[in-house]
Amino acid sequence: MSDPHLDHDWMTEDHHAYANSVRRFFEEEYQPQRAKYEEAGVVDLGFWRKAGEMGILGASAPEEYGGQGLSRTFDLVTMLEQARIHDMGFGFSVHNIVMHYVVELATDDQKARWLPRMISGDLVGAIAMTEPGTGSDLQSIRTTAKRDDDHFVLNGSKTFITNGQNADLIVVVARTDPEAGSKGISLLVLETEGAEGFRRGRNLKKLGLKAQDTSELFFGDVRVPVANVLGGHEGRGFVQLMVQLPWERLMLGYIALGMVRTAFAMTVEHVRERKVFGNRVMDFQNTRFKLAEIKTEIEMLGAFLDRLSRELEKGALTAERAAMAKMWATEFQCRAIDTCLQMFGGYGYMEEYPISQLYADARVQRIYGGTSEIMREIVARSIDID
Ligand SMILES: Cc1cc2nc3c(=O)[nH]c(=O)nc-3n(C[C@H](O)[C@H](O)[C@H](O)COP(=O)(O)OP(=O)(O)OC[C@H]3O[C@@H](n4cnc5c(N)ncnc54)[C@H](O)[C@@H]3O)c2cc1C
Repeated sequence: MSDPHLDHDWMTEDHHAYANSVRRFFEEEYQPQRAKYEEAGVVDLGFWRKAGEMGILGASAPEEYGGQGLSRTFDLVTMLEQARIHDMGFGFSVHNIVMHYVVELATDDQKARWLPRMISGDLVGAIAMTEPGTGSDLQSIRTTAKRDDDHFVLNGSKTFITNGQNADLIVVVARTDPEAGSKGISLLVLETEGAEGFRRGRNLKKLGLKAQDTSELFFGDVRVPVANVLGGHEGRGFVQLMVQLPWERLMLGYIALGMVRTAFAMTVEHVRERKVFGNRVMDFQNTRFKLAEIKTEIEMLGAFLDRLSRELEKGALTAERAAMAKMWATEFQCRAIDTCLQMFGGYGYMEEYPISQLYADARVQRIYGGTSEIMREIVARSIDID
């Protein structure tokens, strides 16, 4: 029987075989440790290394650096399998985003230095854009990098950085020319090992995503070699970010879809069993109609995302279409999971019922990767109003 959790027109037999091995990996290696990771607020580095050995981290990385050279739909399979166990604690998606910054934008020398260890899990990636004073308005960042001979000297702080406790390769968005506006922003790749002046702050306590580390980072006169400017392009940071953000937003759309599918399946199971006023909750027309709506919207979202993923493969995914997907998918996620939780009654609010975790984890999806309001801005700008 076909698997509704992986109902995508790009799924081949190879994708199904891959999904089976990723699912087994999460069941055997992640699930037994899950409570420990949630308690600690971070996933062990040992798990990252195992994911590397499994080939999960480098599925879509080029073979010449140790990857498998597969399409990014295989990475989407990993995220859908994470959504199946409804736990995004393992910060694979951000690591993957950073890996694609390197694959797409780095020099050959940089690729050779970083990719093999990112693929093996020996280097965990993070991307540090947000600062205490600015998030949505990226052009207002205050972290500076001043040239000193063959180094940049980095000063400033970042916050809310996913993988911030584990990361050893951090793409830092910094201002290299204070006079040049968005053209004065560069992406500096910081290798944290032995980096004097670099400090990790708190692992922040969150409403959801309990096992995922989210951190403050501080830079005090940290020396980063000029050779670590991503792609060797000083002042191109803003453009580089814009090129990569559609992939991040598409993947957040798929995560939203996977989470709703999981919530939907567990809700159907619950309402089939639960009896109220002598009826199953499933037998109320209200329940059946609401579930029918969610089922319909799952189909529609899947079709839209699959279209966008084909566009991505052709290099034709636009910023506004990725923004549409991110906005709609994550808002649908929050709305649909809220509807599902309601059908659990009081049990839905109890931690021992996973629907409560799905509800808490959903909320941030409308915030990170660009807020829903910023997504509306991007889409609105594409409308010809004159
Ligand atoms: C769990 C988590 C993980 C994260 N991971 C990372 C990470 O790995 N790397 C990273 O760099 N960042 C990360 N972030 C930060 C995230 O991307 C920012 O929080 C987000 O971009 C919003 O920025 P802000 O928090 O500064 O909010 P603000 O920019 O201060 O926004 C406040 C409110 O104003 C609204 N607003 C802003 N501008 C406009 C506008 N033009 N029109 C209408 N409304 C507007 C926003 O939508 C929001 O509702 C993470 C955040 C969280 C919570």
